[in-house]
Amino acid sequence: MKSKIILLGPPGAGKGTQAEILGNKLGFTRLSTGDMLREAVRNGTELGKKAKTYMDAGGLVPNDIIIGMMKEKIENLEGAFLLDGYPRTVEQADALGTIVDIDLAVNIDVDDDVLIDRLTKRRSCPKCNAVYHLTNKPPKKDGICDACGAELYQRDDDKEETIKNRLKVYRENTFPLIDYYSKKGKLFTVKGNEGTIDDIFARIEKALKD
Ligand code: AMP
Repeated sequence: MKSKIILLGPPGAGKGTQAEILGNKLGFTRLSTGDMLREAVRNGTELGKKAKTYMDAGGLVPNDIIIGMMKEKIENLEGAFLLDGYPRTVEQADALGTIVDIDLAVNIDVDDDVLIDRLTKRRSCPKCNAVYHLTNKPPKKDGICDACGAELYQRDDDKEETIKNRLKVYRENTFPLIDYYSKKGKLFTVKGNEGTIDDIFARIEKALKD
């Protein structure tokens, strides 16, 4: 089975949701740059202070900061792993390629109108990073994480104005990676708004085993 994978796709495509299932069902170690950065912001570290302004505006944190943050983490990974939210630029992809040869880039493709609905209705767990959707995947108890019992919150960058900028940033900076990995023969695209979360997972699982 393919064991070194990255997840590509616009914000709201379901990368975090699929990463969670891949971790739970197939034992992938998950590295999410967004989760790492949000934790750094919550803890008020130097990295968090630098990253916050970019994140609040829906922009990308500069490549040198992100590449430096990820290098050591990736070098220390053992066993199957997935990167969620990295790389997000061609420069990051080139930097990743000098550390590890990935097996597959899973591109989760979703139309813009669906993304905006998903992001505005997304609620996140600050403690275990689980993600919910107010109508498609609500928590069992209103406002409380099923997995760990923490109080759910709406990310600052999940407000409509910031979302529009995040989608623009995605198109300009991250979308070219689809071609980048396709040319290397490593791209698998799955439609992220057809079928249930489990159906989408099943398609990804099959691609990992092919
Ligand atoms: P995410 O949780 O993946 O949507 O990431 C939230 C925010 O963190 C993004 O909008 C960026 O500001 C920042 N971020 C996450 N990953 C990266 C990355 N690979 N490069 C630059 N900025 C990133």
